[in-house]
Amino acid sequence: MPIYEYACRNCHRELQALIMKAEDEKDLACPGCGGHNLKRLISRVSYHQSEEDRLADFDSASSRSDSFYRDSRNIGLQAKKRAREMGVDLGSGFEEKLEKLRTDPGSVIRDSE
Ligand SMILES: [Zn+2]
Repeated sequence: MPIYEYACRNCHRELQALIMKAEDEKDLACPGCGGHNLKRLISRVSYHQSEEDRLADFDSASSRSDSFYRDSRNIGLQAKKRAREMGVDLGSGFEEKLEKLRTDPGSVIRDSE
């Protein structure tokens, strides 16, 4: 998700905004003074990591706490990272299965029966 942080040049208030297209940014107004004189900051919103960032951060050798696996986006990440390290192309079928596993775990079990 493209979430950016801005600082108002008039009153120095900071705000975050979800920007889906360039026009969204033009409509942004400072919640403090209503001004449009905003400066985009380097985003510090780390929980909006892309999957690539997650893969880069992921250390497959270290053990993970239960909370890590409660985040469904992390399911399959270890398998994916290992496969990448070994140079295995999992193909688009794997991505589809992973997506199913994340959104509807029951369906994957049903499919493999
Ligand atoms: Zn302002």
